[in-house]
Amino acid sequence: MVLMLDGKTHAERMLADVQAGVEGRCARGLRAPCLAVVLVGDDPASQVYVRGKIAACARTGIRSLEHRLPADTAQDRLEALIAELNQDPEVDGILVQLPLPAGLDAKRVLLGLDPAKDVDGLHPTNQGLLLAGQRGLRPCTPSACISMLKAYGIPLRGQRAVVLGRSELVGKPISLMLLEEHATVTIAHSRTRDLPALCREADLLVVAVGRPGLVEGSWIKPGATVVDVGINRVEQLELGERIFQADPRKLELLRSKGHVLCGDVRFGEAAAVAGAITPVPGGVGLLTIAGLMANTLQAAEAREARS
Ligand code: NAD
Repeated sequence: MVLMLDGKTHAERMLADVQAGVEGRCARGLRAPCLAVVLVGDDPASQVYVRGKIAACARTGIRSLEHRLPADTAQDRLEALIAELNQDPEVDGILVQLPLPAGLDAKRVLLGLDPAKDVDGLHPTNQGLLLAGQRGLRPCTPSACISMLKAYGIPLRGQRAVVLGRSELVGKPISLMLLEEHATVTIAHSRTRDLPALCREADLLVVAVGRPGLVEGSWIKPGATVVDVGINRVEQLELGERIFQADPRKLELLRSKGHVLCGDVRFGEAAAVAGAITPVPGGVGLLTIAGLMANTLQAAEAREARS
């Protein structure tokens, strides 16, 4: 029987820990941590993510400040706001919701962040600290994934891990974090030859590609742990009929609603072979915001320790 890695339960646990940390601070006479969220433009998905982040702040006792800017905001104006937030002693964490509208250079904006307030862990200083194995703010999705794997007692030390995807947001950082946990890590990507054979070697397969149903059941080593980071909206029935052969409920939903969410892994096929697996939705997706709250608390505590 496959073990379902339940992201909702783990995210709740992480949020409860952050809430306890915030309450502990307030009981010691310290102020609640404060997260500034910067949203440029009106991309509907980004608005949903930002709402979720603000709600998680309220849930954990973190103060939130929302800065909404129009889509035609100039690069200089955005960078000036970041500089202001960097200087604001009340602000512990700054989150710039990505992607930014066309015409804005996200890399330059991220470079302008004070690394001590970079709660997404995307500033090169924090990336360097991760590479060096030192404490810093780490990308939320990968660090929360590692925390969930540990909570479920999934062995990492000495395990053969294959990470599909080499993004700055997920693939690269989770590879380094798994290495830190003493796994033997291979990073695969769009140019990797014979992905199925490589994946079949993995005791732990992490997939962060953004291709619905790319990973088939036959790619999974029996008993392996599968972490599916992908979140994809599928609308085409033809695609659904191909990738949901072992997921009749998803296919039914696609037919009735016209769209359905799924991961990069063919869940039904993979669950029949794997030892443990994250569902989509209900797996990794819920962990990111919990990781962000943990990072905001960490940023506040690190700033206090320095002052
Ligand atoms: P990205 O587009 O930045 O990177 C995708 C990576 O996949 C690239 O490194 C590319 O080389 C690789 N790739 C593309 N096609 C491939 C193929 N056919 N075979 C092998 N590798 C291939 O994506 P990202 O930001 O890392 O996100 C990946 C997925 O994870 C997306 O679906 C995204 O929505 C999701 N995501 C979820 C969360 C969350 O759950 N909270 C957070 C971040 C990203």
